[in-house]
Amino acid sequence: MQRNTVKKNPFEMAQRQFDNAAKYLDLKEGIKAKLRVPKRELTVYFPVKMDDGSIQMFTGHRVQHSLARGPAKGGIRYHPDVTLDEVRALAMWMTWKCAVVNIPYGGAKGGVVCNPKEMSQRELERLTRRFTSEIIMLIGPESDIPAPDVNTNAQTMAWIMDTYSMTKGYSVPAVVTGKPVEIGGSLGRREATGRGVMFTTREALKHLGIPIEGTRVVVQGFGNVGAIGAELLEEIGCTVIAVSDSRGGIYNPKGLNVKDVIRHKAETGTVVGYPGTDTVTNEELLELDCEVLVPAALENAITEKNADRIKARIIAEGANGPTTPEADEILFDKGAFVIPDILANAGGVTVSYFEWVQGLQNFFWSEEEVNKNLGKIMVKAFQDVLAISQKKKVNMRIAAYILAIDRVATATLLRGIYP
Ligand code: NAD
Repeated sequence: MQRNTVKKNPFEMAQRQFDNAAKYLDLKEGIKAKLRVPKRELTVYFPVKMDDGSIQMFTGHRVQHSLARGPAKGGIRYHPDVTLDEVRALAMWMTWKCAVVNIPYGGAKGGVVCNPKEMSQRELERLTRRFTSEIIMLIGPESDIPAPDVNTNAQTMAWIMDTYSMTKGYSVPAVVTGKPVEIGGSLGRREATGRGVMFTTREALKHLGIPIEGTRVVVQGFGNVGAIGAELLEEIGCTVIAVSDSRGGIYNPKGLNVKDVIRHKAETGTVVGYPGTDTVTNEELLELDCEVLVPAALENAITEKNADRIKARIIAEGANGPTTPEADEILFDKGAFVIPDILANAGGVTVSYFEWVQGLQNFFWSEEEVNKNLGKIMVKAFQDVLAISQKKKVNMRIAAYILAIDRVATATLLRGIYP
């Protein structure tokens, strides 16, 4: 795993981002204090039987940041570096993200400290089912709805849905989103985050007057978000010149064939070694000459150490928290246009919302309808944030936070402080 610097504490980063934006709003100190911290958090330590007969202990977290605008919503991550502070930050970002795109959810996140790359499918299934039953008092279609995140996928969601349903005694598809289409998943969900990255990048290109044709794109992280984002940006006419995964990056200034790189990664496990490309490190990749940079791996990719050397005009944050607050200022001073994570990658949760609605109604939409509605929401959110950024003369991140915090604070005040 390559990281640029010692990892910044993501929760401190999320709180700083909140403070930076909250000062533009006329909020009471008590409301600010409430919104700066999670509502509830659960840490569980649980055993899993491994394939060799041994028993291994795992640690997992589920954090709900806010329920003011609706049930908590947020993914579950499996990664060796998961910490409670990371999950807290991700939960808070989910609250703002749902508010930016104006869907009726609060924010949550979950994580299990594990290395799924060293575990078999059977071990992952047992881990998922046990973790689900450990957090079952929090999750439910009306309370808290998990979804995939790093190293979890539709299969993981199917196991969670089944475990929850077994406990209830009947099928509850709306307890998770991002599940397979065959058991109530939504068409277009798998591609939704990447599609949202494409929609918001296209809006940014239009706003800045940069023609799509000839726009060079660099993508860090070639997973669900990065690979699909790259494919869709290529489809609208951009040239993807470099992509990377945790093992390194590949670069060809003339452009890659994204579909073929996806095939290569599926066959070999990595993008590295794709014919006709130079190998670059993840650090070098971020600094390549291009118009659009899509960080779509993990937090802390762009820091004060490398922000100065980033050449992209537009940074579309596919990942959550890829840019530190210090780096943000450097990028803003350089004139880079950052589409913040809570806007750029909100396509996933938006189609999760569509999936939840379809599940509750048992009435399913065509893929065309899903993508059309996603496009409407993403373009409107981009324009709403851009309007605030122009009116208040602040960068897009602060503008997105202003919009989101205002919506969550208004909901909190309307509901009142219980009792
Ligand atoms: P994923 O597991 O499908 O893919 C992650 C990719 O990043 C993999 O290709 C991996 O090899 C690569 N990677 C890991 N560490 C790296 C490093 N240090 N340098 C370069 N590449 C590295 O995960 P994903 O679902 O695509 O999520 C990626 C990011 O997007 C995360 O921050 C996640 O929270 C965020 N996100 C995901 C969704 C979604 O719907 N999947 C929605 C919103 C935000």
